[in-house]
Amino acid sequence: MAPKKTHKNKIYEGKAKILYAAPEAGHLVQYFKDDATAFNNQKKGVIAGKGVINNIISEFFMLRLAEIGIPTHFIKRLNMREQLVHRVEIIKLEVIIRNLAAGSLVKRLGIKEGDRLPRNIIEFCLKDDALGDPLVSEEHILTFGWATPDELEQMVVYAGRINDFMQGVFAAIGIYLVDFKIEFGRMETKDGQLMLVLADEISPDSCRLWDMKSGKKLDKDRFRLDLGAVSDAYNEVANRLGLLPAISETKKEE
Ligand code: UDP
Repeated sequence: MAPKKTHKNKIYEGKAKILYAAPEAGHLVQYFKDDATAFNNQKKGVIAGKGVINNIISEFFMLRLAEIGIPTHFIKRLNMREQLVHRVEIIKLEVIIRNLAAGSLVKRLGIKEGDRLPRNIIEFCLKDDALGDPLVSEEHILTFGWATPDELEQMVVYAGRINDFMQGVFAAIGIYLVDFKIEFGRMETKDGQLMLVLADEISPDSCRLWDMKSGKKLDKDRFRLDLGAVSDAYNEVANRLGLLPAISETKKEE
């Protein structure tokens, strides 16, 4: 769905979100679309209401993670589909954390889907659509300067803490956090220093979430694999997180 408000100055349009300039320098408005893509843009579609749900779920995790000491780009939610965030320079890496085997790990290494990994795994992929977001090693990251040694170390520490926290939140509502992807950015602080912060979003678009009892997929794999009832699954996640009242409130505001 295209955003209604067209007066804003568009800075960047991605597959699932648009960034607009905000009144204050150093801030951006992040708009959540219903558009979905998969398999490096080959599959395209719309998941009705996804943007609204992802906006609220992402707000929830960004606020909770800030409470446990993870710096994030999130400032506040503005309305149903928009949030105010700090402008950051996105580090061109997707940081993937895995707890159970799924997706590309299964395809690449022939491990059985659903197997619990002996320990969680952190992977890095280069954010480059033309190359199909290839898996890269820490050697590549440091050699080509995609992140500094300090940033790399910090991303690994944050990824581990974010995973521990999110696994607990989802386990409490009967959901396995199978794997997820996060992105980091460099934010300029008031004294001109660069600070690593969690950016982008955390939502069923970027996590694999399986119901603990039935194994039902409650994430974007329903779209990727044509499993149907995609919006219902996103709604189910928001509901179990206790976020449905917030979603109906925000819909009334519009
Ligand atoms: N993921 C994502 N965006 C991407 C690639 C992966 O959000 O461009 C998420 C995906 O939803 C899953 C995790 O990262 O939760 C691991 O994805 P995987 O490497 O298995 O890739 P996929 O099978 O999705 O291609």
